[in-house]
Amino acid sequence: MGRRRVKGRDLHCNRIVGYNGTTLSTAPSSAPQFPFHHGRVALSFVGTVGDRGSVATERIGTPGALRAWLLAAGLIAEAATPAPAQLRRALALREAIARAVRALVAGGAPGELDVDLINGVARRWAPRLSLDPRTLTVAHATRTPIETALGRIAVDAIELLGDPEERSRLRTCGLDACGAIFLTPAGRRERRWCSMERCGNRAKVTSFRTRSR
Ligand SMILES: [Zn+2]
Repeated sequence: MGRRRVKGRDLHCNRIVGYNGTTLSTAPSSAPQFPFHHGRVALSFVGTVGDRGSVATERIGTPGALRAWLLAAGLIAEAATPAPAQLRRALALREAIARAVRALVAGGAPGELDVDLINGVARRWAPRLSLDPRTLTVAHATRTPIETALGRIAVDAIELLGDPEERSRLRTCGLDACGAIFLTPAGRRERRWCSMERCGNRAKVTSFRTRSR
C-alpha cells in the first residue's frame, strides 16, 4: 500500500454533515493528511474520519477527496473521479466497518445489517478474474476502478472481521479525542496509541499541561 501524503489543497472541502448527522469540521490544511498507521487498509479507511472521539474531521467528504484517498492508499492507479452515488456507497461502507470494529472492541458482535452491507459490496465489486485457457490472458469482470477499490476494502474488512487472531488485536487509541481503532502488532509490546508519532505525542503534551497547572 502506498503511503504518499497528499497535499492539503487537494483535500479542501467545505463543512459537511457527517456520518452521525453532526456537522464535521474541515481538516486543517496544515495537519498531516490521510494516516495509514492502523494496521489494515479497512481500518485506515475508517480513519478517514479523524478524531472520532471528539471533533470528527471528515477527510473524504467530496468525490475529489475520496479519489485522493484511494490514490494515496494505492487502490486506484488513475485519477478516476467517484460519482456521487459511489461516494455515498463508500461512506456507508466505511461506517458499517466502523460500527463493526467498534462493537468488537467493546466486546460485542457486529450488527447483521453492517455485515450485510460489507458482504454486499464485496459480492458486487470485489475483483473477479478469469484466465482464458487457450491464450492465458486474464479477463477482469467489468467494473469501474472506484467500484473495484471499494470491493477491495470490503474484502479487507471481511478478512479482518473473520480472523479471530486479528479480532483479538483490535484496540481503541488511548487518546480519547482520537478514538481510532487499530491493530496492535502481533507478538510485540502492546501499542497504546494508534500512532506514537501523532497521538502518543498529543497525549504527552496534554498530560504535561495538566501537570503544569
Ligand atoms: Zn490515535
